[in-house]
Amino acid sequence: MSSVTPKDAAAIILLRPNTDPNNPEVFWVRRSTKLTFLGGYRAFPGGQRESFDAETGVKNCDDKERAAMINCGARELFEEVGVLLARGAETLTVGQLASLFDDLNSGRMNWPGLLDHYGLHLDGDDFTFVGRWVTPPFAPRRFDTWFFLANCPAKQEPHVTDDSELESGEWIAARDAYAQWQRREIIVVPPVLHAMKTLAAGLDHSLVERFLDVPEAHREPNRRMEFHPNYICFPVRTPTKPPATHTNCYLIYTTQELLIVDPGSPYEDEQQALTECVDDLIRKGSWPREIVLTHVHPDHVAGVNALNDNLAQSHGRRVLVAAHRLTAESSKGQFPVDRFLEDDDVIELKGQPSIKLRALFTPGHARGHLCLYDERTGGLLSGDNVVGFGSVLVDPQDGNMSEYLASLKRMRALPNLSVLFGGHGPPIANAYEKIDQYIAHRLEREQAILRAVREGASTPKQIVARVYTDISPRAHAIAERAVLAHLEKLIADGLVRQTSAAEFSVTV
Ligand SMILES: [Zn+2]
Repeated sequence: MSSVTPKDAAAIILLRPNTDPNNPEVFWVRRSTKLTFLGGYRAFPGGQRESFDAETGVKNCDDKERAAMINCGARELFEEVGVLLARGAETLTVGQLASLFDDLNSGRMNWPGLLDHYGLHLDGDDFTFVGRWVTPPFAPRRFDTWFFLANCPAKQEPHVTDDSELESGEWIAARDAYAQWQRREIIVVPPVLHAMKTLAAGLDHSLVERFLDVPEAHREPNRRMEFHPNYICFPVRTPTKPPATHTNCYLIYTTQELLIVDPGSPYEDEQQALTECVDDLIRKGSWPREIVLTHVHPDHVAGVNALNDNLAQSHGRRVLVAAHRLTAESSKGQFPVDRFLEDDDVIELKGQPSIKLRALFTPGHARGHLCLYDERTGGLLSGDNVVGFGSVLVDPQDGNMSEYLASLKRMRALPNLSVLFGGHGPPIANAYEKIDQYIAHRLEREQAILRAVREGASTPKQIVARVYTDISPRAHAIAERAVLAHLEKLIADGLVRQTSAAEFSVTV
């Protein structure tokens, strides 16, 4: 199963004119919390390349591909925050700019047509290339994004336009933005974090060099992502449920200790990569305190033994494994579970910063499922209960729909929830909205299934044919398992009864 191919995209890191060179101000935006992909994240204006972005040349830029990406970035900047980075635009009045924006937005003109019609052109000298980052293969959407630094034209003021997918935008001093990340108040993708950190060090002659000084700025895959300080998300390739191709292993560390959550890859190269990351943290003083398992599914536990073998080999000792008793029961001796984690148990890491994680017994997707809640920051490791990529399967084998919904409601009731770190895909910054969507989706399915049974569909197969009209026939077998889980709940609720081995009807 291969992951999605990255799409070309460009983003503009817009700097304020006359900004303090030691702590420059940059314009950042907040993505709408309604968005399913990276909803609620802070970002720079930007977006996906359109075919016509290659039609217009850029002065002082001989490279055709770079010219197309400059067009892409400039167009997205104009569409999203109304700033037109084109030569010739300096003579336009605010009213004229607004009508240009309207021409583009209404579709009366496309980008090349607009530049041509108003006699504008882009100049490569206005856009400083500061890196090309590729979204790692753990995400549902992937981009190969070109980042450009640009100065905001003196007479223009960026503002989030009405139709954009953005909630708000503001000028912020780079150091303040970086401090917000350090205080775990915001979520950004790694290139945005890198940009903030780099700008926070000041606008000196080495700025561009510092931007480009990491391999990830040259399309090198990013393995180790610190969406929150001290919370490393390290996706490993696993034979998981498509469309996901990776499972997130989390490495939560302090100056002294390290917690490893869900080392799930059965593949040697991936196990090796994870071991190297753990070794690096050990060298910096954080000794692995425990391996914690959210649940027993193979894509979350398949790397436990290999990690311990590798650590035993290089450090002479293995790491204790902690999981819920039901996970230990289901694991059938695949690996030793040294300590049972019960609901409400607190794991407190030694060292700095102070990190305390409360275990929440949240069954439904799997019998022994645990979430880990950081009460201070509102971060929740949500395991496979809520994920950033793909959907969650509740399979009656060891899943239970009533329990699953109760677990979602329990998660929803947590105060101060800020980010969900799921077992797959990027972290979820719009935690409450996401859980609400999950609950609503399940209840809608339940109603549709009940309706189908009422209308005479009596077997899971017949129910799938009526209700799951949006999936490919190849997914029908899995959908039948999900229907069974819903039927079990409807039986428990007294709305459906089982009339034979594979047949169901409504009770009233
Ligand atoms: Zn799972």
